[in-house]
Amino acid sequence: MKKRTASNGKQDVHGGNIGSTDAIPTVDILGISIHQLTRRELLQLLRERLEQELTTWLVTVNAELVVRAGDDSAVASALEKADLRVADGAGVVWAARALRDVELERLPGVEIAEELVKWAAEEGLKVYFLGAEPGVAEAAVGQLCHRYPGFVTAGCRHGYFTEMEKEDILEEIKGAEPDILLVALGAPRQELWLAEHQGELSVPVAVGVGGTFDVWAGRVKRAPAWMGDAGLEWLFRLIVQPWRVRRMLALPRFVQRVIKEKYTGRRSEK
Ligand code: UDP
Repeated sequence: MKKRTASNGKQDVHGGNIGSTDAIPTVDILGISIHQLTRRELLQLLRERLEQELTTWLVTVNAELVVRAGDDSAVASALEKADLRVADGAGVVWAARALRDVELERLPGVEIAEELVKWAAEEGLKVYFLGAEPGVAEAAVGQLCHRYPGFVTAGCRHGYFTEMEKEDILEEIKGAEPDILLVALGAPRQELWLAEHQGELSVPVAVGVGGTFDVWAGRVKRAPAWMGDAGLEWLFRLIVQPWRVRRMLALPRFVQRVIKEKYTGRRSEK
């Protein structure tokens, strides 16, 4: 496999060059810096970095993940290590507006992943799918091949592996030489996994995509666009996946922390 330049340590990126992430403005949301990119700019940047043989690890950050990072320093440093962090959900967009008067575009992981698949189909790039329950990634690939003729997968592997199987998975991904790696282990598991392995794998574009394979495979429905636009995607998920209620308790905590920082200038403890 052609060794690409990992830019996680920033030492390989020449600030201000085309393809560099250093020159992109960021907005700080409770200690997590989010890159201010539109969908077009993000896709353009990924193309440029791929052409320059720079690897890019992208995280789409939602409110839940910001709260997790605030509670767990391992998650915070994983996010810090990523090359790009963009706003996945309405909560982060709202916080950027409330705290910094900055307008961010919402770039949900599932939509970015679909843009990558479309791009891959057009350019003949290979995509590897890691994650979700056995059979789901394969079903997702089946749907995508139908939607995007010419789409080629580099391989699939479910996300319920043991510690013992980890090495085998890494070897399989390296051997498959994907251009794009989609990791659907759920947040923050996928971010911690990529923090540990993306340096070694050196896949040109790697993204944690949460429940995206379930959506593609038709197992989980996405909120209708109007609910997403109204910032109500969380409510839809709560209705269709009521077991998420515990995780969603992070949302009021996110709001509380943003309000505290806005009005006191101080960041909350846990
Ligand atoms: N998952 C996995 N391995 C695990 C735990 C979860 O592959 O050990 C998968 C799960 O099957 C689902 C995805 O990770 O496809 C998580 O989806 P969710 O919608 O919860 O994503 P999040 O909201 O965490 O981004």
